[in-house]
Amino acid sequence: MTMTFTPALLEQARRNAQRLAKAQNLKTFEAQNQIAQSKGFKNWSLFAKSCNASTTPPAAAPMQQPASKVRWYAHGDCQEEDRTLYYCSMCDIFASPDHFATQHRRSHAEQLQIKLQEYAKWPADTAQRIYRPADAYNLFAAELAALVAQQKARVASRSRFYRWLEKQANRDDPVGDLAYDITHDKGFPVEASLRKTRSYLESKWVSEAVMDALAQAWLEFSANK
Ligand SMILES: [Zn+2]
Repeated sequence: MTMTFTPALLEQARRNAQRLAKAQNLKTFEAQNQIAQSKGFKNWSLFAKSCNASTTPPAAAPMQQPASKVRWYAHGDCQEEDRTLYYCSMCDIFASPDHFATQHRRSHAEQLQIKLQEYAKWPADTAQRIYRPADAYNLFAAELAALVAQQKARVASRSRFYRWLEKQANRDDPVGDLAYDITHDKGFPVEASLRKTRSYLESKWVSEAVMDALAQAWLEFSANK
């Protein structure tokens, strides 16, 4: 993985430091040093020097416009200054598309979805200072659309038994525990009724007690129908 230290990256790091300082109640310089160290620098000023050294004219004007909004990049967003680079929010760098072919801790569509949800939820004072164009070009737009469609289909396909279980997840008894586990299992066949649920749980090598809880749950569900 190659990393180029550019003024754009410096600006991105500066914003991350502000966020970190706010989140962890640090002084700005402490957060900046932490960010610089995570990128392999001894401190912020060495990191900043390295970023600004990569351009011939010294970076000047953009940093001194506190009133203007800062472009916020979602995971996979194309960089505005250099259209060959895309933002990777898992590595916090701008990189060429081949960077995204390497193993990351979750899928790019999932990461993009998480970041866009965060963006929509920024508190007003932060939201006033950042922007992302509605038509921002993103490397994973199609994958995100497919993921959303898949999530919608899963929600729509939930069996009546599964919907009943969702409502039991807060209970403080074996049925509640079972309901909690099932509704937090991303691989669970949500369309399943009793027979398929039982064989799914059996395939997971669950205990007798869990199977008893399932029998109890089904009994209650049937009585409620
Ligand atoms: Zn990455």
